[in-house]
Amino acid sequence: TESRDAKRVAVLGATGSVGASAVEVIAASQGRLKAIALSAHQRFDRLIEQAKRLKPRWVIATDAAAAKKQSWRRLPKGTELLTGPEALEQTVCHKDVDTVLAAIVGTAGLQSTWAAVDAGKTVALANKEALVAAGPQIQKLARQRGATLLPVDSEHSAIYQALKCGAANEVERLVLTASGGPFRTWDADGLRQVTVDEALAHPTWDMGPKITIDSATLMNKALEIVEARWLFDLPAERLMVMIHPQSVVHSLVEFVDGSVIAQLSPPDMRLPIQYALEYPHRREALAERLDWTQRMVLEFEPPDFDRFPALELGFRAAREGGTAGVVVNAANEAAVGQFLDGELHFTEIVPACASVLESHHFSPSPTLKELLELDQWARREVENWVCA
Ligand code: NAD
Ligand code: MG
Repeated sequence: TESRDAKRVAVLGATGSVGASAVEVIAASQGRLKAIALSAHQRFDRLIEQAKRLKPRWVIATDAAAAKKQSWRRLPKGTELLTGPEALEQTVCHKDVDTVLAAIVGTAGLQSTWAAVDAGKTVALANKEALVAAGPQIQKLARQRGATLLPVDSEHSAIYQALKCGAANEVERLVLTASGGPFRTWDADGLRQVTVDEALAHPTWDMGPKITIDSATLMNKALEIVEARWLFDLPAERLMVMIHPQSVVHSLVEFVDGSVIAQLSPPDMRLPIQYALEYPHRREALAERLDWTQRMVLEFEPPDFDRFPALELGFRAAREGGTAGVVVNAANEAAVGQFLDGELHFTEIVPACASVLESHHFSPSPTLKELLELDQWARREVENWVCA
């Protein structure tokens, strides 16, 4: 039941946590949304299953070497296989692509996000790391090309919705909520002993491994502060973080008159994904609803900046702009990798990032090329930090 004027969506990172939720949203859209392209880096059996379900025009296997080893026999007739990261950039520019869901994890998603913005597309952005690394550059390009950025991150989706209640100059502050992660109540001694398995078990969200570790260190919230800074063009002084363990209030906007507007729903990424893909419309959703016949307790508390030093790093990167975001983000990606490999303690992730941020050569308005070089430099610095 594909309607002729379906919105044609390219899902980059389709096999990930966000990507798989997007596939469900598209499949349930009664033909309003059509997957025109699906990409994956590995796990191609999963990609082929998705292709059988949604019959896209293209599947993209970004790891070309791994793609050679895969049997593509079961790909549906009419679906063409493209390989290599360049295929992402070619596909997002195609005239038949209306919306690009950027759901690749980390800096690996930067160039395809950039290409989609450059092509003037509507970009549903899950890949927060792209905006952390190159926020001002992406926003400038979006203005030049007439591209629209729609947040998929649940906090930013909530803020985007709440901002509709007032004018830009009527906003006092944004309050990002954070679940606090699995170690919200742990003391400093406990935090030093955290194992990889403990850090991978998140209490309220089911996500990919990198963002799950980020949620445990609160680096995810740090990245989201920087993301909000560029997405909504507000200075760091107007951004705040509150711990809200239930993950029901997804964020809040406080206006100059003191009114606070929030968006609430059970934690389920299918809702913000659907909001971005169906925008400007609201449709019935797969996501569960709040049950207003039941007692419900919502708690809020200020975060502990001592136990979770990542937050200060996020505010600092949001204040400084320039090259601070790309360095913190790349250092964090490398440090998370080291932690998952057992080479770094949980409580060393943030100090490693802070040290690399401290020692980098700051520049206020870098080019994309300079950002990509600094990204590589920061990763090497983390390796040296670990060996030292
Ligand atoms: P994930 O690890 O589950 O999936 C990542 C996807 O990217 C996979 O499809 C993988 O094949 C692809 N990928 C990985 N490396 C790649 C590379 N080098 N080149 C091309 N493709 C590559 O990650 P996720 O949890 O779905 O997160 C995706 C993005 O969405 C991240 O930026 C994350 O911060 C953001 N996000 C996720 C959630 C969530 O609930 N999972 C919520 C908010 C924001
Ligand atoms: Mg989030």
